[in-house]
Amino acid sequence: MTILSWRGHRMRGEQLSSCERCGAERRGKFNGEIAIHFTGLAGLNKPIVWVFPPVAVCFHCGLAGFEVPAEELEVLKTGQNGNDPCG
Ligand SMILES: [Zn+2]
Repeated sequence: MTILSWRGHRMRGEQLSSCERCGAERRGKFNGEIAIHFTGLAGLNKPIVWVFPPVAVCFHCGLAGFEVPAEELEVLKTGQNGNDPCG
């Protein structure tokens, strides 16, 4: 599964732009439940970041895209969960 950004997308509204990869206009919007893991062995000691965004999916090539909320984005930047003393 490839997860990339969409050119000019408006995920919070109902309007989606064309697919960034193939330019197709036919795409759908779904509710997502995504666990983001850090890579490699070092990732085993880092938090798993859960996000529940709307996900835009291209029906032609399968490209999917979503936004990571600010709080979860900070966890991905730092590798630490500020709300969890174990993270
Ligand atoms: Zn596409």
